[in-house]
Amino acid sequence: MGIRAFWIALLALTVIASCSVRQPEISARFYVFGTLVDVLVRDTDQATADAAFAEIQQQLQALHRDLHAWEPGPLTRLNQAFSLGRTVTLGGDIPILIEMSRWMEEMTEGRFNAAAGALVALWGFHTSEFPVSSPPPTEYDIRRILMMGPSTFDIHADGQTFSSGNPAVQLDFGGIAKGFAVDRIIALLESRGIDQCMVNAGGDLRAVGGSNRSPWRVGIRGPEGVQVGIELAGRGAVFTSGSSERYLEQEGQRFPHIIDPRTGQPVSGLVSVTVVSDEGWFADAAATALMVAGPDEWQQVAADLGLESVLVIEQDGNVIATQVMAPLLIAEQKVISAIRFVTLPAGRFSEG
Ligand code: AMP
Ligand code: MG
Repeated sequence: MGIRAFWIALLALTVIASCSVRQPEISARFYVFGTLVDVLVRDTDQATADAAFAEIQQQLQALHRDLHAWEPGPLTRLNQAFSLGRTVTLGGDIPILIEMSRWMEEMTEGRFNAAAGALVALWGFHTSEFPVSSPPPTEYDIRRILMMGPSTFDIHADGQTFSSGNPAVQLDFGGIAKGFAVDRIIALLESRGIDQCMVNAGGDLRAVGGSNRSPWRVGIRGPEGVQVGIELAGRGAVFTSGSSERYLEQEGQRFPHIIDPRTGQPVSGLVSVTVVSDEGWFADAAATALMVAGPDEWQQVAADLGLESVLVIEQDGNVIATQVMAPLLIAEQKVISAIRFVTLPAGRFSEG
């Protein structure tokens, strides 16, 4: 198989996880936001694991209910209030997600915009059925939303009371919620004294407790088994955002589910972006933002976000990774030597 075919095969971006040193492992499977979540713990007893798993089940159900962008619940009620100019009193996790999203919007200069849910909906992406086959929206409909310029900075909080000065604000946490959920699970496991664990949500994951002696190894799988892996010694999150799984298809043309909030158009140019960072929410949102940044801008935006470890696959099959990522990668030499390694520029917003 040619290198190009191999990288195209990676479109199937399925990640499998394994641990290099065999130790008793206990695992459980959950479901949230349309994704299966595998939780793996090691060096712990069954009773401790089972108690943690029961709590995880509850927490994920609550997150699914609270953060879903189109199934009726707290978020859809909030969005409805925004569009009607009403105020809403909120508890739970939505306020912190607004804060995180606001920070991401600022640092990415609007490339990540959780308030642009109306554009996501307009393209038909508020669905679990892919590919979407409805026609793309008209330029007129897109412009109507763009003119209103929805932003998380339009949201006002007065204690626990929220309102929006802009009726076009429609929150959609699809680019960050999975990472947030993974962080929640890790925090829960750690609070129960489980310090060797891995949470894998359909290839997006976070691990704790790997060491040089016993690192967590996660692989991006092609059709012939694992071809490129990432080794996490210690703790870290690996999130991939891609254009190949969820898209609208119309007359042979594919429009990915990630929208550039500044143009209202689906992104183009990159097949996938993989980010390694400490926390799930950040790695998740950053990967989405870099998909929007595209081939010409992802390195600058990555630097602005303070990222170090990023791997991108371009539309034509080229693989580019940051130099810092190099020691984390496990692959055959011919695969590694086909990767172009780059050093990121200076970030524009860092202090000092
Ligand atoms: P991900 O798979 O993490 O890249 O997230 C994609 C999801 O994030 C989409 O299905 C939308 O719900 C949402 N989304 C799409 N475009 C953006 C954007 N520019 N900023 C923030 N969220 C977005
Ligand atoms: Mg994301």
